Amino acid sequence: MDGKIRVTVWNEFIHERENERVAEVYPEGIHNAIAGYLKNLERLDVRTATLNQPDHGLGDQTLNTTDVLIWWGHIAHDKVDDRIVDKIYKRVILDGMGLIVLHSAHFSKIFKRLMGTTCNLKWREIGEKERLWIVNRGHPITDGLGEYVEIEHAEMYGEPFDIPPPDELIFISWFKGGEVFRSGCCFYRGAGKIFYFRPGHETYPIYHDRSILKIIGNAVYWASPVRGVKARFGRTEPLEDL
Ligand code: ZN
Repeated sequence: MDGKIRVTVWNEFIHERENERVAEVYPEGIHNAIAGYLKNLERLDVRTATLNQPDHGLGDQTLNTTDVLIWWGHIAHDKVDDRIVDKIYKRVILDGMGLIVLHSAHFSKIFKRLMGTTCNLKWREIGEKERLWIVNRGHPITDGLGEYVEIEHAEMYGEPFDIPPPDELIFISWFKGGEVFRSGCCFYRGAGKIFYFRPGHETYPIYHDRSILKIIGNAVYWASPVRGVKARFGRTEPLEDL
């Protein structure tokens, strides 16, 4: 895609305002930690939106000019208005808006709707070590990384992860406690591209980690829409004289 890629980083933005420990890690909110990194990348036009804004900060004006939406939520998935979820769904499927779903947003309404499964998983929070192995070396989301990425302290997510088989699997995590998890999954739905990326918990500084931010940045370029004509459905006239 030529020109700027317009990115909106969405965060429910509750933990950071209500929990001192989280506020110490993300004083400006998780959305601003991610947006602050993305703003320094080429061709990106970055803004943020949060749950408490009118229309969750995703009114038509914003949503219709968003090429890639990044989504972080945890304790307020049910507070997201179904009307907005419908609009995001249509933007992805029909217009090809990219969607990057982070960590606990596996349970967000929009991700569950796009997957059609429960998106449930195993979890444990004891701050154990995680190693994210790259299992798709030619994929643009892995650009500039080594063989793996290590996170010293992470919340564990373990299989089974109740999602449809990903169209492309990019990362598999190993956890010190013994579990594994499909941590980087690409899906194509309609005209849109979706990337689920596991790392990131509100009490760990994972969204300050340069490798993790690099992956999110790479995913923005990958998920950005291709230019094309809008889909036409229904009865149609033949292109040749019949
Ligand atoms: Zn978490």
